[in-house]
Amino acid sequence: MPIFEFICNECGCEFEKLVMKSSENNEIQCPKCHSSNLEEKVSGFASVSTNGGGGASVCTPSGG
Ligand SMILES: [Zn+2]
Repeated sequence: MPIFEFICNECGCEFEKLVMKSSENNEIQCPKCHSSNLEEKVSGFASVSTNGGGGASVCTPSGG
């Protein structure tokens, strides 16, 4: 999904913007103070645990 998160360095407002082209982010302004001093928020990629081949996952039962 081409949605980028931006953080305004002026008022600290966080908002999402649908950016089609990477060069279009130059026209993005803060919806609150309309400032162009924005910072692109990099959303951390969710680490997906991939199991190589068929392997039985070991799960230790918590018991006491
Ligand atoms: Zn702002």
